[in-house]
Amino acid sequence: MYRIGQEEIDAVARAINSRDFFKINGGNKEVYHFEEEWKNYVGSDYMILMTSGYAAIVSALIGIGVGPGDEVIVPAYTYIATALAVLETGAIPVIADADETLTIDPEDVKRKITKHTKAIIPVHIQGFPSNMDALKEITNGTGIKIIEDACQSAGGTYKGRFLGSIGDAGTFSFNYFKVITSGEGGAVVTNDRTVYERSLIYHDAGAVAFFGDQLNGISEPLFGGREYRVSDITGAILREQLKKLPGIRADLKKNQFFFIDKLSSRFTKAPSNDMEGDLGTTVALRFGSEKETRDFAQKCAEKGIGFTIPFDTGKHVYTNWTQIMEKRGAFHPAMDPYKFSENQGLQMNYTHDMCKKTLDLLSRTAYLLVNPDWTEETCTNIANTILSI
Ligand SMILES: *Cc1c(COP(=O)(O)O)cnc(C)c1O
Repeated sequence: MYRIGQEEIDAVARAINSRDFFKINGGNKEVYHFEEEWKNYVGSDYMILMTSGYAAIVSALIGIGVGPGDEVIVPAYTYIATALAVLETGAIPVIADADETLTIDPEDVKRKITKHTKAIIPVHIQGFPSNMDALKEITNGTGIKIIEDACQSAGGTYKGRFLGSIGDAGTFSFNYFKVITSGEGGAVVTNDRTVYERSLIYHDAGAVAFFGDQLNGISEPLFGGREYRVSDITGAILREQLKKLPGIRADLKKNQFFFIDKLSSRFTKAPSNDMEGDLGTTVALRFGSEKETRDFAQKCAEKGIGFTIPFDTGKHVYTNWTQIMEKRGAFHPAMDPYKFSENQGLQMNYTHDMCKKTLDLLSRTAYLLVNPDWTEETCTNIANTILSI
């Protein structure tokens, strides 16, 4: 969360005062308007707002037809929700290394592709754009789909296109920790009509056929799914947040580039697939060893400057994905994809050292988390303190 205030409070009041903040029937249709505005912003044909980023990833996977018997490649460095979402579809998450950019390594993706691979989920973690060109080249003509996890990168771009709008589908989160927020929330975008229709049906299985005219023009047959619907209160908050996003983005970039420029004489920045497009929330410094990284972060902490070592970020690192590493994929054995007959023989031999390269890179990186509201004076003081170490 960066900028939230009176505008959002007024928007919530607007939604509540309408006395009808169910998203479909009437009222101010805040969700409808936000979906239109978000589509225009990122440049996608279809958009569905829902309860969470996790819900969005699951709905997008169901949208492209993932299910039991399929493998979906996810990066070793992402929030656990990315991998858990694969399990909800009955498919198996296959874990691939990160490269120097800390996004999924296209070379390792190539090694992990089998005849069972149905999709790849590149994650633009910390706003770092994944190598979309390389992934598209790998999947071209194979039928393997790409679902972008842009949960941490709303507003970032790759070669001029918004993150999330480049793959077969893209997913966003608007939970409290993200760039723009409604406390909780998520979204799927796609240009593929079938993916849209299947995601729509799955995300609102109980009500899509009951309320309003939501099935007008829908040709996919109804099937069972989940209830991931949101209210117009969520939509109202996000309409205000979207208005602020370009300003947040511009100030993040200004401050990020200020630090990169100042620190480049002494420190090495981690490489990027598109430094202009990178969202700007993070300055990632790369060191020669874990010890060097920890010594640096310790010295900064003593001077009041917090650096985060991504190795220490808990459920963002595959070795800490307990349910997955121990293969408990559901609440009941009969619902557990790891036990499905369709999935026997798929790649699910998880070990702690299976993505050693990722662990090494995460332990040799330190993040300065940028605030868009830091003034030039604050940035100068922080940079000078770091340079004095
Ligand atoms: C936040 C996040 C999610 C999940 O989003 P929720 O809204 O919390 O469900 C998924 N993937 C990544 C990379 C995230 O950062």
